Amino acid sequence: MTAQTIRTDVCIIGAGPAGATTSLFLARLGIPHLVLDAAVFPRDKVCGDGLDLKVVRVLRHLDPGIVLEELPENPWFMPCWGTRFVTQNGRTSDFVHRPGPGTTLPHPLFWTAKRRHFDDFLVKKIDPRFADFRQGCGVERIEKAGREWHLQTSTGEHIRSKLLIGADGDHSAVLRHLGERKIDRRHYAGTLRQYWRGVAGLDPQNLIEVYFPPGLPMSYFYIFPLPNGEANVGYGMVSEVAAKHGHKLRDIFKALIVADPVMAPRFRDAEPMEEPQGWGLPLASRRRRAFGDGYLLVGDAASLVCPTSGEGIGTGMVSGYIAALFARRALEKKQFDAEQFKNYDREIYRRLNSEIRLYNMMMHIGPGIYDFGLNMLAPNPVFKWSFYRRVNGWLKTAYERPFEVHY
Ligand SMILES: Cc1cc2nc3c(=O)[nH]c(=O)nc-3n(C[C@H](O)[C@H](O)[C@H](O)COP(=O)(O)OP(=O)(O)OC[C@H]3O[C@@H](n4cnc5c(N)ncnc54)[C@H](O)[C@@H]3O)c2cc1C
Repeated sequence: MTAQTIRTDVCIIGAGPAGATTSLFLARLGIPHLVLDAAVFPRDKVCGDGLDLKVVRVLRHLDPGIVLEELPENPWFMPCWGTRFVTQNGRTSDFVHRPGPGTTLPHPLFWTAKRRHFDDFLVKKIDPRFADFRQGCGVERIEKAGREWHLQTSTGEHIRSKLLIGADGDHSAVLRHLGERKIDRRHYAGTLRQYWRGVAGLDPQNLIEVYFPPGLPMSYFYIFPLPNGEANVGYGMVSEVAAKHGHKLRDIFKALIVADPVMAPRFRDAEPMEEPQGWGLPLASRRRRAFGDGYLLVGDAASLVCPTSGEGIGTGMVSGYIAALFARRALEKKQFDAEQFKNYDREIYRRLNSEIRLYNMMMHIGPGIYDFGLNMLAPNPVFKWSFYRRVNGWLKTAYERPFEVHY
C-alpha cells in the first residue's frame, strides 16, 4: 500500500491550548491548514488546571460569548474569586476580588477546569471549514527538503508543508528535530499533580491556594478547587534547586500531605483519586528563539511558562494568536524564511519580561532571605493595596481592551 501524501501551506503539530488557539485564529483569518495530534480528545494533561486572565483575554478576543456565556454555563468550569497565599510561617493572606451587585466587572480572577475538559472544549471549536484536524496522528519523523517540511505520521501519512507550527508541548518532536530539546535546569521545574476528593477547608469563594513550605525555596505546593468537591493538588520546584540539594519531589509531596503541620490536617479525611503524576515546566526565563526558516514555536514547545507562577496555558494561547498573525503575513508574501518572523519573539516576550526579571532576581537570593521575604510580603498592607488598586485594570485588559500585536 502506498502512503498518502497530504500537501498544505501550514501544519500545526499539537492541539493543546497553544496549537488549538493557533488553528482557531487561522480559521478566523480564512487560512486552510492541517492540525495533527498524537492523542485522541478528550485526553488528560498533567497541569494545575488553573485558567488565568490571559486565557480569558484570548477566548474573549475569539468570541466574547465564550467567556460571558459558555464558561459560566459549563458545569466543568469553576469560577475562582482570588488567591490564598500561605507563607512559610503558616500565615494565610487572601487576595479576593468579589464585586457587589451592579459592578461593571463582575468577573472571576481565574477559572479552573480539568485539562481533559478544557482542551476538549477548545478542540471542539476547531473549524472544519479551514482545519483538517487529525487526532491519534503522531508525528514520528520530521525532515526539511529545500524549503519544504516532510513529516511522517504514526498513521502512515506523508505530509508536505511550507510552514510548520510546533505546538507539541514540552516533549516536542519539532524541538528534537531542531536539536534544541536540551533541559536547562535553571529554567525548568519538575512538578507533580494528584487529583483529590474531599480536601478540607476549601474556601467558598473557590480561592486557588498556594503554599510556600519552609526551607524549600523556589518551590510551591498548591490546591486548586474543581467542580464536584474535587481538587487538583500539586507541587513544583525549580530543577536546579532540586538537583543542588538532592530534593526528591515525590518524597516532599508525600511528606507535605501526611506530616506538614499546615497542610496535613486538610488531607486527613480526603481521598486521592490517582497516583501523583509527573511532568515538566519549561520556563520562559530560558528565552528560547521561537522561530526560524519555515517554522514558529508556540506554548511549551517555545518554553513559554511564566517562571513566577507556573502558568503556561494563557501564555501558550497568546503565542498561538500571535503565530496565526505572523503566518498570515508570511502566506500573503509567500515567504517563509526566518526574516518574516523576526519580531515574533519580541511580541511573545513583551508580555513576560517583568516576570522573567523577577524570577532571575529570586534565583539570586539565599534561602533564608527568600523565606523571610515571602513571610513579610504576602501579608504586607502595601502589597494588598497594590493588588486592589490593580485588579480592575487586569480585568479590563482581559474583558474589554483590544488585543494589539505589532508585526
Ligand atoms: C503540574 C503542572 C501544573 C501546571 N499548572 C498550570 C496552571 O494551573 N495554569 C497554567 O496556565 N499552566 C499550568 N501548567 C503549564 C501548562 O500545563 C502548560 O504550559 C500547557 O499545557 C502548554 O500548552 P501547549 O499547548 O503548549 O502544550 P500541551 O498542553 O502539552 O499540548 C501539546 C499537544 O501536542 C501533542 N503532541 C505531542 N507530541 C506530538 C507529536 N509528536 N505529534 C503530534 N502531536 C503531539 C500532545 O498530544 C498534546 O495534545 C502546569 C503544568 C504542570 C506540569
